[in-house]
Formats: sequence, structure tokens, C-alpha cells
Amino acid sequence: MIEDAARGPSLTRSSPKLGASWSPRPRPGVVDVAVAVVAVGLGATVGISLTAETRTQFDGNGGIAIFAGNVTGLVGTYLALVMVLLVSRIPWVERVLGQDGLLRWHRRLAAWPILLIAAHAFLLTIGYAQAARSGILHEVGTLVSGFAYMAIATVAFVIMMLIGAVSVRAVRSRMKRESWWALHLFMYLALALAFAHEVVLGPSFVGHPLTRFVWSVAWAATAGVVIVCRFGIPIVRSVRHRLVVAEVRPEASGVVSIHLKGRHLDRLSVSGGQFFEWRFLRRGMWWQAHPFSVSATARSNAGSLRLTVKNVGDFTAALAAVPVGTRVAIEGPYGAFTAHAQRRQRVLLVAGGIGVTAVRGVLEDLPAGCEPVVVLRASDAGSLALGDEVAALVERHHGTVHELVGSREAVPVEAIGALVADLKERDAYVAGPEGFVEAVVEFLSRAGVPVKSIHSEIYAL
Ligand SMILES: Cc1cc2nc3c(=O)[nH]c(=O)nc-3n(C[C@H](O)[C@H](O)[C@H](O)COP(=O)(O)OP(=O)(O)OC[C@H]3O[C@@H](n4cnc5c(N)ncnc54)[C@H](O)[C@@H]3O)c2cc1C
Repeated sequence: MIEDAARGPSLTRSSPKLGASWSPRPRPGVVDVAVAVVAVGLGATVGISLTAETRTQFDGNGGIAIFAGNVTGLVGTYLALVMVLLVSRIPWVERVLGQDGLLRWHRRLAAWPILLIAAHAFLLTIGYAQAARSGILHEVGTLVSGFAYMAIATVAFVIMMLIGAVSVRAVRSRMKRESWWALHLFMYLALALAFAHEVVLGPSFVGHPLTRFVWSVAWAATAGVVIVCRFGIPIVRSVRHRLVVAEVRPEASGVVSIHLKGRHLDRLSVSGGQFFEWRFLRRGMWWQAHPFSVSATARSNAGSLRLTVKNVGDFTAALAAVPVGTRVAIEGPYGAFTAHAQRRQRVLLVAGGIGVTAVRGVLEDLPAGCEPVVVLRASDAGSLALGDEVAALVERHHGTVHELVGSREAVPVEAIGALVADLKERDAYVAGPEGFVEAVVEFLSRAGVPVKSIHSEIYAL
């Protein structure tokens, strides 16, 4: 058994009684409750916006456009709050859906608030122009300068539309991820700027103090959730555990492992297969956090955490040379790609390249009797990392490991099928680059593995 971080992880699963801790079991009921709360909130928002207009206002000039403008504005901002909550990383929800699941929902819904808020501005301008029998441009000027908080609401509108524009896939794919993400953060500012004009001018709130109070509480609660989950918990965890780089060790071609020492790591609840957003507190690096799976937990790595990183760009290149002693802040752990997701007794684990980090983590936590078949896929043998550790874990579980090396053309994903006779009866865990994971998941579905038994972690958010 290997005893310290410098020599790599031991391969004996420690008992939680020794102080180690796994992330809590996900509770799918939490998501059902959250969906019900969001649905009730949506119903209430539609209700208060529909009942706010009087019949006379509705029948007047521009009445229909003004009515539609108010409804779209209120529902659009409500959905914007839901979008914020989806990326606020509420631990109980994240544990069930994983960050990729939450982001998928965030992306699916994203167009709605933007389109509804754009419709709100457009319809109100048209409606008020009709009511005042003026031109549209003239009405824009009147609205922006003649009503309280409308100037800052206009700034908010411009920010939201800009964010909407850069989120379109064709534009986003041309931007550096960090620039796109930094721009995205302005959505918080835009929502804060838009709030005042809504409660001061919105017909659902003028003369309705109770509705205004409830709406304000919903906004304050959303802000509170963001502050606690995105800033509070990570800061407390980082300060509590005081992670420091203890060693950087080459693993394979372009791949290094970083071992981190810290305080009370036995009390940091993390399951194999989960990941953190890591922030290395060093000049030029501190301002960006990147996701990396935990390639060995403190349970198996003599009290140290380990991440294993493949050099694919600026940040990962810098990590290969990060000095010992560098302080590290963490956000997480995140991810539902854990042994908790296992539904069937036997499992197949497939790693594309550096996806081996998450696969190794899950393998470590799987119970006896899972008879794992592990497939390690790489374009060349030199880039296979952690192969020996995986082989030792597989041996402990009485499983088999296969290395599939070669180009995509030479070794298509279908090759996996030939290695696993009882494919349909297994749970499948797949991790690695986006294209690879999608191809394997598609193949497994075609081969008859039920969707609920396929668990994936894509190394791109
Ligand atoms: C859940 C998860 C777990 C991961 N685990 C590992 C791991 O264990 N080992 C490993 O080597 N890599 C892992 N990755 C991938 C790793 O995060 C990226 O390779 C790294 O952030 C690239 O940064 P860069 O500046 O060096 O390269 P860049 O040139 O900036 O990017 C290279 C690629 O990484 C993606 N990327 C860049 N920054 C981020 C970011 N902050 N969040 C998500 N994707 C990003 C880009 O879209 C691009 O496809 C993981 C990714 C995710 C989402």
C-alpha cells in the first residue's frame, strides 16, 4: 500500500469511520420540489401580470400592445431569475442533476427570457406610441427620459441583448471562453438595474404593496442564493482547507498530476468522479477557475487531493509549471458522475483520453461485485495516463481493462461493443472530450443500454 502523496494513491478503499467522507447521496425528490416551486411561481407571475390591466386600459389606443408588453416583461424577468438559479450551484440540486445537467437546462431556457424581454421593450414602445399618437423613435426618447428608473433599465436592456447576442452558438464559438464568461457575469448587473423600474412602474405592482413585497422577496432570495452558493460556500471551504500545491509530477505525454496538501481534508466530502473549479492563487492565474476532476481523493492519497491535467491550452500549460507552495482556492465538489449513480450491479467504464481521471475516481468508489470492464481510449499509447492505477483497481474488483489505442478511423467507438458481451445489462460510465462522449453515448443507446443507465461527464462546459 502506498502511503504518501509523493508516491501516489493507495488502492485500498478506506472506511468512512476513519474520517474520510463521500459526498452525500443525491435526493431526486429535491429536484421535483424545485420544479414544482418554479412552476407555481411561473403560474403566479402570469396570474399577476394578466390581472393587472383594467378593461378600459385594454380597450384604449395601444392597449393590447401595452398589455402584452407588461406580460412579456414580467414573465421574461421571472425566467431570467430561474436562469440565474440554475447556474447558482445549489448543492442539493447540483448533486442530482450535475453541473452539465443544470447548464443544459440553462441553455435550453436561455432564449426565452431574452426574447420575452426584447418583446417587452418593443411592444411597450409601440403601445405607448399608439396611445400618444407619436412616432416610435420619439416614444423611445420619451420613455427613456420621462419615467423614473427608465434610463438605467435601458442600460440593463442593452446589456441583456448583448449577452443574448454573444450566447448564440456561432458567435460564442469564436470567443475565448474566459471573455465570454466575463461578459456573461454582467447579467447579474443587468437584472439588478432592471429591478427598480419594474416595481416602480409595473402595473402589477403600482397600488399592490403585497405583490410588490412578494416579488422583492423573490429577487432578494435569488440574490441570497447566488451569494451563498457561488461565493460564500467556496470562500468558506477554501479558507477552511487551505490547499497548497505539494508536488507536480509528470504522468504521461503532456499530462501532469498535482498533489495538494491541506487542513481537515478528511472532512471535505467528495466522491470519486466529482470535480472542483480550481483557482491557483498566483499572478496571471488567480482570476480564472478551471474544472478538473479529482483524480485521487484524500481517502486514497494519504490525505492529499490530486488532480491530473492534460496540457491543451494556456492555463493547463501554466499548471505544469506551477510552483510547490502555491495556494489553491476551490469551488465544489460538483458533478453527479459518481458511484451514487449506479443502478445495476455490473458496470462498464469508458475513458476518452484524460477522461480517465473521473473514471478512476468512480472505479475507486464502486462496491465489490461490480465486475468492471474498463476501456481506456487514446490516440497514442504515450498519452494513456494513470493506466497502472486503473489496472490495480480493476484487479481488486476482479474486472478487466482494455486499452484501445489508435485514430478514430482505426478504432471506432463500435469497437467497445466487441469487448463487452453483456453490454445491455451494465451501467455505463463515460468520461472525456465532448465529441468522444457523445459518440460513445450514442453507440451505447443504439446497442440497447437504457438512457438511465448511461452516466457521462463531458470535459467541456
Ligand atoms: C467537468 C470537467 C472535468 C474536467 N476534468 C479534467 C481533468 O481531470 N483533467 C484535464 O486535463 N481536463 C479536465 N477538464 C477539461 C479542462 O477543464 C480544460 O481542458 C481546461 O480548462 C482547458 O483550459 P486551457 O486554458 O488550458 O485551454 P483553452 O485553450 O482555454 O481550452 C481548451 C478547451 O477546454 C475548454 N475550457 C477552457 N476553459 C474551460 C473552463 N473554465 N471550463 C470548461 N471548459 C473549459 C475549452 O472550451 C476548450 O475546448 C475537465 C472539464 C470539465 C468540464
